[in-house]
Amino acid sequence: MDEILKLRNDFPILKQTIYKRNIVYFDNAATTQKPYSVINVMKEYYEKYNSNIHRGVHFLSDKMTEAYENTRIIIKKFINAKHSHEVIFTSGTTESINLVAYCFAEKYIKENDEIILTIMEHHSNIVPWQLVAQRKNAKIKVIPIDYSGNLLINELNNLITEKTKIIALTHISNVIGTINDIKKVIEIAHSNNIPVLIDGAQSIQHTKIDVQELDCDFFVFSGHKIYGPTGTGVLYGKEKWLDDFPPYKGGGDMIKSVTFENTIFNSLPLKFEAGTTNFNGIVALGTAINYLNKNNFNNIINYEEKLTNYLLMKIMELDFVKIIGLPEKRSSIVSFTLNNIHHYDAGMLLDKMDIAVRTGHHCAQPLIKSFGIDGTIRVSLAFYNTFEEIDYLCECLKKVKEYFN
Ligand code: PLP
Repeated sequence: MDEILKLRNDFPILKQTIYKRNIVYFDNAATTQKPYSVINVMKEYYEKYNSNIHRGVHFLSDKMTEAYENTRIIIKKFINAKHSHEVIFTSGTTESINLVAYCFAEKYIKENDEIILTIMEHHSNIVPWQLVAQRKNAKIKVIPIDYSGNLLINELNNLITEKTKIIALTHISNVIGTINDIKKVIEIAHSNNIPVLIDGAQSIQHTKIDVQELDCDFFVFSGHKIYGPTGTGVLYGKEKWLDDFPPYKGGGDMIKSVTFENTIFNSLPLKFEAGTTNFNGIVALGTAINYLNKNNFNNIINYEEKLTNYLLMKIMELDFVKIIGLPEKRSSIVSFTLNNIHHYDAGMLLDKMDIAVRTGHHCAQPLIKSFGIDGTIRVSLAFYNTFEEIDYLCECLKKVKEYFN
């Protein structure tokens, strides 16, 4: 555990005092902080190697291309993809889902077809499919949850019909922390010949992902939620799907040859990386993942589990706090409400005590509504958080209660 606690020193932002004490950053589900190695590598590459990738014949371009492609290999290994060309760089989870939704629909979705989502999706995994449904006159069906926030996976058997074309669901809820049994969903889906997209925005940084073992068809995540830079993300897709997809965006790098009559598209992965990508950010994303690999990711996961259990235990001791969702398997995201105190007011007061939490609907309005509320206070942990910070949060929640009473 000492080794994990030392890692906190790698994150300069956490040494900062906003009002009176070092900031307590509990908004990790929105975005994670960056270690020195990630910050420094961005500076280093802009200072020494900045040059556009894939097209140059000079030293700088070669160097940048090599580092960019090296990240593809790092990610291939990190998620255990079969081929590195199954790793497509995007700007984040949102773009990855839009890419799949658009391309998949172009090829496979027609009028009256059905798309299955869950009620706990982030808007990023709802709206792109709604756009598809409107464009193609298709239908969206939704897997419900029970009151504890467990996904009712058995309902899938009632929802699937011969018109179901794809299932897209989050691995971990960004509001209530439920870890969905995605392996079971994938097995049921595949036994009906239906592909599955997994939104890994909240799981890639907290669990070991093995896309071959899961056998998912698509797995997407954002770089900024795994200690990397904003504007970077990944779409993993099985080769058979990505090869078959039409292109998503047209532009440089995604072509083999262009005439005014016709374009021959590039092969994977460049077919989906049109234009100048955030190559410097992608290099730094590789550095972020190397940081986790170097610092024993399994230990990090174990520590986060202990921290989460401690948070739950401490919060449950407070009789004015109501936890929203108590799923059987959960991650380090905990949402709650306070008796007669609006989540927004509580969040503002906590901020003044140097605690950063998120309040509101967390871009998951259908889920929030299903609990009959309009928002929560969300605490989302990362490995640089400490048990002392959780104690401090509970003290401050008591002060919030006193203030409003
Ligand atoms: N999916 C989930 C489950 C999320 O939590 C988020 C962001 O919070 C997203 C998708 C969207 O991620 P991004 O804004 O990085 O594209």
